[in-house]
Amino acid sequence: MNVMDIFETMEYGPAPEAATPALDWLKQRQPFGLFINNQWVKPASGQYLDSINPSTGKPLTQVAAANSADVDAAVAAARAAFESWGKTPGHVRARYMYAIARHIQKHSRLLAVLESLDNGKSIRETRDLDIPLVARHFYYHAGWAQLMDSQLPGYEPVGVVGQIIPWNFPLLMLAWKIAPALAMGNTVVLKPARYTSLTALKFAEIMQEVELPAGVVNILTGEASQVGEALVRHPDVNKIAFTGSTDVGRSIRRATAGSGKKLSLELGGKSPFIVFDDADLDSVVEGVVDAIWFNQGQVCCAGSRLLVQEDVADRLIDKLRARMEKLRLGNPLDKAVDMGAIVSPGQLKEIQRLVAQGVEEGAEMWQPSWACPTEGYFFPPTLFTNVSPATSIAQVEIFGPVLVSMTFRTPAEAVALANNTRYGLAASVWSENINLALDVAPKIKAGSVWVNCTNMFDASSGFGGYRESGFGREGGKEGLYEYVRPAWERHGVNTGSVNGHADVEGMTGAELIAQDEDSNGAIGRNELRPYGDSGNAVTLPPIDRTPKMFIKGKQVRPDSGYSRDVYGAEHHVVGQVGEGNRKDIRNAVEAAHAASGWAAGTTHNRAQILYYIAENLEIRQDEFARRIVQQTGRSYEDAVREVQASISRLFSYAAWADKYEGVVHRPPLRGVVLAMNEAIGVIGMACPDDYPLLGFVSLVAPAIAMGNTVVVVPSQQSPLSATDCYQVFETSDLPDGVVNIVTGERDALSSVLADHDDVDAIWYSGTAEGSKLVEMASAGNMKRTWVYYGHPRNWLDLAQGEGEEFLRESTQVKNIWVPYGE
Ligand code: NAD
Ligand code: MN
Repeated sequence: MNVMDIFETMEYGPAPEAATPALDWLKQRQPFGLFINNQWVKPASGQYLDSINPSTGKPLTQVAAANSADVDAAVAAARAAFESWGKTPGHVRARYMYAIARHIQKHSRLLAVLESLDNGKSIRETRDLDIPLVARHFYYHAGWAQLMDSQLPGYEPVGVVGQIIPWNFPLLMLAWKIAPALAMGNTVVLKPARYTSLTALKFAEIMQEVELPAGVVNILTGEASQVGEALVRHPDVNKIAFTGSTDVGRSIRRATAGSGKKLSLELGGKSPFIVFDDADLDSVVEGVVDAIWFNQGQVCCAGSRLLVQEDVADRLIDKLRARMEKLRLGNPLDKAVDMGAIVSPGQLKEIQRLVAQGVEEGAEMWQPSWACPTEGYFFPPTLFTNVSPATSIAQVEIFGPVLVSMTFRTPAEAVALANNTRYGLAASVWSENINLALDVAPKIKAGSVWVNCTNMFDASSGFGGYRESGFGREGGKEGLYEYVRPAWERHGVNTGSVNGHADVEGMTGAELIAQDEDSNGAIGRNELRPYGDSGNAVTLPPIDRTPKMFIKGKQVRPDSGYSRDVYGAEHHVVGQVGEGNRKDIRNAVEAAHAASGWAAGTTHNRAQILYYIAENLEIRQDEFARRIVQQTGRSYEDAVREVQASISRLFSYAAWADKYEGVVHRPPLRGVVLAMNEAIGVIGMACPDDYPLLGFVSLVAPAIAMGNTVVVVPSQQSPLSATDCYQVFETSDLPDGVVNIVTGERDALSSVLADHDDVDAIWYSGTAEGSKLVEMASAGNMKRTWVYYGHPRNWLDLAQGEGEEFLRESTQVKNIWVPYGE
């Protein structure tokens, strides 16, 4: 072939990256051991697993198969290391992390080639994307290690963290896990995915090169059933960080329920890619390539559902097919290849199965005319049209290079289609009209929204899901909170006067009630002394005041028709409240949903209403104080202090309502990322028994300040302070349905809330068993949980009772990527 011929065809020649250095590296070290305490050790089982090159189907090397004995050893090493690493100054940790980043760069090509060999992804991606992002992640988090003391005061590391990662971005997922963990002073036991351990093993070698203290990072290769499960169940692990499928995430939620382990889950997705008719269609085509054929579609946030405005659909599909015809698929080490191999035969079979099912369901399948290599596990880029939104290919995560397309007519229809999924990981929106794009972005329930771009990642900008795509964030400052806890949790709670039967000077409850009988107080025995004919005093029975439940702004009777007695300090009945049941909770959840417009209102308006509630509470201070005395027997002064603290707390969250704002990130690209704190939705909450009013206000106020609507189960023991509040709400312009109150048995009602698919988060202040119940049940729709495991908080203490922890639990971060500047 001469130069003229080449000009004629413009064919690519082969441009392979040499595999030899990586293969030599493997050969020198095989079989690999486990990495525990900075040493390579033989697996307890004595067994090894083949590591396969998916583009050939041939073994590359052997890795150790760890079992639970190895998990024990690794956790013990991590525990021992934590003793000093957890106290190592931030600056010292920053130096280690800086060194790790440097070493990643020094070995960047070896890592890129290893990753391509092991996973099957193209060298173009590993070289230009995976590995640079890995280094970036360690640099970025070195900075947070340095700044931890000043920027996260009052927080400390969680301890030993078990981390479990998938195979689609093996080293990048490792970096997303290990970097924030080390930055915050934790130690780690990490399990790579069964098919892709090799770059993690090279990473282990880097730990030796930088002389990271032994035991800070431990890496165990092996099977999920041997290593993953043992790690999840290990009693000395303080947190599990998991990335993988929603099914496994759900089983981990259940397995850790009630254990007190912190948990973050990054799960699957079926992300929409929305194209409006004014979009630049040629950019859209390149966007689609990056959305669904990047990494062979094995991307949790892949734009796998193409939603196109009807009038441009045909034109876009034509352009797309033409582009697909030109995609190059083959040897991942070829630098001019767009797509490599699927990670494993099992994964390939699953893609084939779902595609066949799509055809069977009546959708139209299209693939380019060229053929895939027959050796290795390849699957061509695939496009489905004529897809109906309810079919399985439109709903199920395929995790392969398969795009399904659907059309819409109006922006509202686009949003409805986009949100028609149980997932909520990411979305991209294409339009030349910035108003339209930024109108749609907040309406999509997803953790990342890319405007006129897709699959953008950076350490500065948190990544993670809404709904069944999991909870917690990786990256950004918000990601750090997954690896710390408030220091006071460990130092124990200063309970102050929680059980204050007269531990404060002043009148005791009994004295106050006695006094009531003379002074005709607002609560207590209301005696009137009118004069009858004879002129003698007649004692009338008090008018019965039965607090009802509060749903959709209305006082309602319980569905059950039963009431429960409320006992005061002297064990006498001080009132009755409704015995709430499943039906009441369902009505309350429905009301809370219907009130979702609350989140769309202005933060100024929410602040105004919180101030107004405080104002109206102040007017009734005496009544509320007496109610507390009546229920708890605490002194009047103590009760007044609780009411005052509740008023102050309402002021705090009124203040925060328009100040707990997002940030604007500047990732290294032409754009900005708007990190928005969004309301979570409907939060179910069970209030603590101590501080019947303050406990209630401390939970409700931050949640509604941030735009959530709530279904509240007040203190089971002392519910009357909460039910008294509805009269305050009614006079404070709080829209119907924003706060709903269902009285009754805390654990029974909480478990209905935890089971409910339309409840997005649950906060539970109750017993350890109740906490377990709630965490277990919440796995159904992967709702966020915040439970106390039976450890009380001192609600009067500002560090424990209010502040950013409450605001964080009330929000989830959405990152909106917007092109900006030049
Ligand atoms: P997977 O859930 O089967 O496995 C993920 C990891 O968990 C692997 O290391 C596996 O060995 C381990 N594991 C499996 N069962 C376990 C158990 N019972 N206990 C403990 N550990 C267990 O997922 P996969 O097939 O490796 O990866 C594909 C899935 O991961 C997709 O659904 C994808 O959406 C998801 N994913 C999500 C993200 C994200 O950030 N949200 C990123 C990548 C992949
Ligand atoms: Mn492999």
